[in-house]
Amino acid sequence: MSHDPHTNGLELATGEVAIESGFDSLLRSLRHWWKQQTAARIEDEVVDAGGARSISRFVVPVVAPILPLPAILLVREPQNHVAAITLVAGVIAILYSIGGSALERSATNPFWVAVANAAVYTSIISLLLITFSVYEHPREHLHWVIFFLYSILIASNGMSDDPRHPVMAGSFAIGGYILVVLVLRAAVADGWSPMATRLAPQFEWVSNTAKIILLFGTTIVATASAQRGRELRRSSLRDGLTGLLNRHALDQCLIYLERTTQRSREVLTVAMIDIDHFKRLNDDHGHAAGDDVLRGVAAWLQRHFRATDLVARYGGEEFVVAFPGAANEEIACRLEALRSGIASNRFRCRGDADELEVTISVGVAQLPTDTASVDEILELADARLYEAKRSGRNRVVGRGAL
Ligand code: GH3
Ligand code: MG
Ligand code: MG
Repeated sequence: MSHDPHTNGLELATGEVAIESGFDSLLRSLRHWWKQQTAARIEDEVVDAGGARSISRFVVPVVAPILPLPAILLVREPQNHVAAITLVAGVIAILYSIGGSALERSATNPFWVAVANAAVYTSIISLLLITFSVYEHPREHLHWVIFFLYSILIASNGMSDDPRHPVMAGSFAIGGYILVVLVLRAAVADGWSPMATRLAPQFEWVSNTAKIILLFGTTIVATASAQRGRELRRSSLRDGLTGLLNRHALDQCLIYLERTTQRSREVLTVAMIDIDHFKRLNDDHGHAAGDDVLRGVAAWLQRHFRATDLVARYGGEEFVVAFPGAANEEIACRLEALRSGIASNRFRCRGDADELEVTISVGVAQLPTDTASVDEILELADARLYEAKRSGRNRVVGRGAL
């Protein structure tokens, strides 16, 4: 059986299996999938994010060189309304991209950034396409150039490391194009647009189907490219064995959290967690069993804390959890529940009939109450962890202690 390190790699011996109907299970899977699609992932916000996800950074270099064309036309043909509308649309796209890039840096959920970008850019392209198809102007073929912008939009979204961006762009582009066709049809039916009537043969069903298939194909290619980028990014941020954030990602996230909690005048609490006598467990049961326990503890940590808490594998059998803005009592309760939960659980490992008992020791430190610098917070948590070990293990020392 394949073993997915990013999910619970170890069945917990006390875990209960609920009996549910196929429909409930489908609903639950759908809910889980939707939650995953829309979840804000802290590492997306932090590590190398700097605008890497969105297409806003492409808009200025793609749109700005085109803008002189309608501007020149407008000087030579002041009555050219299509050129005026194109110029305004281009300027709006550029302004949105500049504002959008700034917004993205402060946005907490990239999913909604993907939705907003796709909605705004496809609306601009669709409005332009409608203008070029129904408004009287001398350059009839230019609607093809505008249509091509849908493809550029979708393809450039493939450069993001987030497949949600090209999926959104593709869906909005196809929806936008269908809307354009409906408007064009209505204009032809009402007979008020000679331009639409002349262009109608270029919007008949074979041509429309081909165009939609083209947009769909571009979406698939762009999504595959974004998915690949995401996997590469993920593997650079995640620990291969447990699927938790790795040390590099943790360091970056802590710097980010220090800034954000400082700004909101909240505390940042960090817990360093170490499995007790892990070397002995490895010696007695083998490294494979040790690996299973590591995966099991990691899965436990991921389930146990809030989505906004940061869970990382710090080193061998050491983990770090960061709680931005959480109250001391809540952290104390959670850490105590974690400690006692793990201590009373029996870990089952592959190829080992024994159910293993595992305990953890925890050292906790807080910013800015215990130390003013994020560089020192891990050292302090580590010192308290050492204290927990010295005073008998299987305990929490520091602010998270009850
Ligand atoms: P203490 O209670 O003081 O923490 O003792 P300990 O035995 O847990 O600590 P020690 O630092 O002596 O040993 C840690 C062990 O963790 C040694 C190393 O072989 C093991 N280890 C580190 N990384 C991995 C891993 O990825 N898989 C396995 N199976 N073992 C690991
Ligand atoms: Mg240990
Ligand atoms: Mg250790």
